[in-house]
Amino acid sequence: MLIIPEALIADLVTPADAYDAVMACLTAAARGEAENFPVIRQALGEGRQYGFKSGIDRAAGQMGVKAGGYFPGNAARGIINHQSSVFLFDPDSGRPLAMVGGNLLTALRTAAAAAISIDRLARPDARVLGIVGAGHQAGFQLRAAARLRPWERVIGWNLHPEMLPRLGAIAAELGLPFEAVDLPRMVEADAIITITSSPAASLMTAHVSPGTHLACMGTDTKGKQEIEPALVARARVYTDEVAQSVSIGEAQHAVAAGLLDADKIIPLGAVLAGLAPGRQSDSEITLYDGTGVALQDLAVAALAVTRAKARGLGQEVEV
Ligand code: NAD
Repeated sequence: MLIIPEALIADLVTPADAYDAVMACLTAAARGEAENFPVIRQALGEGRQYGFKSGIDRAAGQMGVKAGGYFPGNAARGIINHQSSVFLFDPDSGRPLAMVGGNLLTALRTAAAAAISIDRLARPDARVLGIVGAGHQAGFQLRAAARLRPWERVIGWNLHPEMLPRLGAIAAELGLPFEAVDLPRMVEADAIITITSSPAASLMTAHVSPGTHLACMGTDTKGKQEIEPALVARARVYTDEVAQSVSIGEAQHAVAAGLLDADKIIPLGAVLAGLAPGRQSDSEITLYDGTGVALQDLAVAALAVTRAKARGLGQEVEV
């Protein structure tokens, strides 16, 4: 079994790699070549979440599990709130193949998924990017989205405004003007990424213009919520995995309220595979409910293993 510590990941997997890996696994799932197994996610109290996301990609020969969660007290420990590790197994024999640090990989694959949704579903003339949230993931989201479209400016809102200058600094590094705004000014955005740990909706119908694409990435657990359910119901909704979208994703609230029919939610992979339509008009609101799936974790972890082996990095251990 190869152990790849967190510190090596930045040298092994780039945002462009993550984009390609997530494209491939979402497409494989839509073609029936890969599947996510049911998620186990437990609340530990005081906002802590711990769980397991597992699956198999038969097309890519990957099987495994990501163990980890969200621990909001970690800032005081000097480490990030998201903590995870990915374990890969041989799909034929079940033997463990690798244990890979999952923190940066999670940020890269989550940002890649939102970026793919923007690339495929935002209007071609989208020029203003909105970001709701300014925590650890938000910077990765901004960097990934900036690679794909010719944004003219970025606007950001966060419940804790003192966190926004860090996002502004990343925008400056990318050569993009950045402005901290109130939520009603999100109507200026053509695409909005939401990436908070909020337990209640922040982004309301009145904050979003017709034709906007929403990449809703923060809600990955029962009880979290970023978007007003009526706005979710009004949108054409896409997701990484319908079963997760209705149970732990942003759509959980609209579905529970009877505002959205689960059958109407479209896997983004089906769009990537040419099996389902994308945006239908310049005026409709599209929404990607990015819940975060095991197949993404396996894809980027497997890539890290391939690259590490090629360069003789990581540590082999007998288990
Ligand atoms: P973080 O702890 O670094 O930042 C949290 C963010 O949420 C900050 O912007 C903070 O100001 C905001 N926030 C905190 N409490 C809030 C509240 N009550 N109302 C509104 N906003 C609030 O977290 P992070 O690592 O940036 O992760 C953000 C979210 O994304 C988390 O919910 C995390 O679980 C989720 N996440 C999802 C995926 C996925 O694949 N969908 C992957 C990784 C993380």
